[in-house]
Amino acid sequence: MDDSPASSRFFVLLSTRLGSRVAAGVAILILICMGIGGAFKVQAALKEVAATRAVFEVPIMREGFMAMNDIDRLNSVVQQAKASGSISAADRDAFEFAIDLLVVRVGSFERLVRTNPTRATSRAYDALVHAADRANQETQDGFRGLFTFANDFLELASEARVALVSYLDNARHLQTDALERQSQILFSLTLFLITLLIGMTLIGTCAILLLRREVALRHGREQAERRADYLAHFDLLTGLPNRQKFQEHLDDQLAQIAPMSMLLLDLDDFKGINDTYGHAAGDAVLRRFAERLSKRVTSYNGLAARLGGDEFAVILPQTDPATLRRFCGEFVQDMERPIRCDGLSLLGGFCLGLATSKAVSNGKNLTAECLLRATDIALYEAKEAGRGAYKFYDASMEKRTADRRALLDAIPKALDAKEFFVVYQPKINLETLEVYGFEALIRWNRDGVVVPPEEFIPLAEEHHLIKELDLYVMEHAVQQLVDWNRGSSAPLSVSVNLSGLHFVNARIVDHVRRILKETNLPPHLLTLEITETVLLDDWTSVSNVLDQLRELGPKISLDDFGTGFSSLAYLRSIAADELKIDRSFVTELVQSQEARFVLDAVVDIARGLGMTIVVEGIETDAQADIVRDFGCHNAQGFLFGGPKDATTTFDLYLSNRTKLDRAG
Ligand code: C2E
Ligand code: MG
Ligand code: MG
Repeated sequence: MDDSPASSRFFVLLSTRLGSRVAAGVAILILICMGIGGAFKVQAALKEVAATRAVFEVPIMREGFMAMNDIDRLNSVVQQAKASGSISAADRDAFEFAIDLLVVRVGSFERLVRTNPTRATSRAYDALVHAADRANQETQDGFRGLFTFANDFLELASEARVALVSYLDNARHLQTDALERQSQILFSLTLFLITLLIGMTLIGTCAILLLRREVALRHGREQAERRADYLAHFDLLTGLPNRQKFQEHLDDQLAQIAPMSMLLLDLDDFKGINDTYGHAAGDAVLRRFAERLSKRVTSYNGLAARLGGDEFAVILPQTDPATLRRFCGEFVQDMERPIRCDGLSLLGGFCLGLATSKAVSNGKNLTAECLLRATDIALYEAKEAGRGAYKFYDASMEKRTADRRALLDAIPKALDAKEFFVVYQPKINLETLEVYGFEALIRWNRDGVVVPPEEFIPLAEEHHLIKELDLYVMEHAVQQLVDWNRGSSAPLSVSVNLSGLHFVNARIVDHVRRILKETNLPPHLLTLEITETVLLDDWTSVSNVLDQLRELGPKISLDDFGTGFSSLAYLRSIAADELKIDRSFVTELVQSQEARFVLDAVVDIARGLGMTIVVEGIETDAQADIVRDFGCHNAQGFLFGGPKDATTTFDLYLSNRTKLDRAG
């Protein structure tokens, strides 16, 4: 992993990207400079070539040779005349003709001197002029001084020849130089063209590579953007739209004032599935649930989303109750098929709350918040109704919600006003029917009406008020037991219930220590009842708190055994002192052979682990007999006595300290 800081990574990226761009820019600049330089060079070379061509185009050599020819011709005439001592008419004509030609040549040389004023040219010109002048003069004199003239002329002709040879040599050198220069220019031009070609090829290749890199980067960026967009709007596990996308869709529908229904769905006991069968099983349930939901919702042209955890939401365009009921029925049926995962067969039971835009504010001034709130209320009611229920929002639910809210708000005030009180239910020995202790249970006297715990305990747990209530009960019950036990040789024990919320941290340990210290109750007479669902929470934290509590001396009791997800394996890991078998189990004992088998096994294991078994909820003699036959010695139930306030409890069980009076 690259662990360099983000800022340095940014600069590396910037410099690489800038670096390649600067390099490309410099290369292109060099190429342009080379191009401009090359263009100048080409122009200069072309000029030179043109000049060379001009040199050859001017008939320098030819003029030179012709002039030499003319001189030779005159020379031969003069030589001949000198030899014969006279000049014939024909020679005279030939001489005059040759002079004419020489004069023409002199004219050419004159032009040459103007355009190409070299020494050789001038010398040749001068010599020719002299020779021509001398020859001209002689013709005008009628060759009178032939011999004098012949010698002078031959001398001049010889000088002219020498000048012409030097001139021709010079011209030949000029020609060779020009050719060399031309081939040099052509060579450097070829070199330049090759360099230019290589440069262009290199830059072209670099440009293609840079372009490809840029395209790849852009492609990567686009992919990352697409992925980020997907992550921002879709849930990775189920592939369903997430809360954000759901909200956007909802806002769209609201903006169009489209009639619609909102559904909220919550899986039953999902935490239990996760904790008992593992997260892979939990994920499989979520995926299959999402798949089936999405399929069903799509067939109704709606949108399904996962809001988080095991919470799902749906928007349907339908609002008529019959269609909505059909949808719910069909989806309940969809989910009746078990979900298979690693050889397990799991059920994805759920609760569903539904609200239509019509039912909420009659569709007018509908906002996302009020629709969501109404659906949430319906879901709450569905959860209250038990597993697998679905509820449609109606205005009457508002009152119940308001009542719940009022109840919740009243709890802290009720604590201050001491409206809560403790009732005691006897725990008895099944053999002797003697009371050996009590379970302390909370009650709320609200304006003269006693509110049963199931109405406010779940609410208090949900809003984290339960801890104060538990401590209130513990303080009162422990003090009460100390009072009742004073002077007794057979002291009674007291059980208090502790919510799972106490096990998040170890503060409860301090409270128990304080209460025991303040009241002086022998710690073994206090039993702390925890429900088995506590064990499903963060086990490390729970077992740590349990160990500390046990060190203080109270007994630990596992309450409501058989209602949750616990397996017999839990019994070993928790090492509780007491196991309370739930009354739902007892109800089945009489008619169900299977329940009796299970009880038999549980009793066996619990006894093996040195646990005391208490069977709760015994209402009939038949139940008591069966339980006794299984070797359970302790029980609780209306058959022996329901929960009573302190005074009644004292009167019934403690005033004479005799055997249990069944009248309770
Ligand atoms: P629990 O701890 O299992 O308490 C036993 C419940 O069963 C009591 O209900 C009791 O009245 C009832 N019961 C006992 N014998 C019979 C019987 O033979 N038949 C029937 N039908 N019921 C019987 P209660 O007092 O309504 O309490 C209900 C639950 O509320 C308790 O179940 C416990 O989980 C919770 N609770 C009560 N007081 C407290 C408290 O102070 N703190 C906490 N955290 N929970 C409490
Ligand atoms: Mg209990
Ligand atoms: Mg119980």
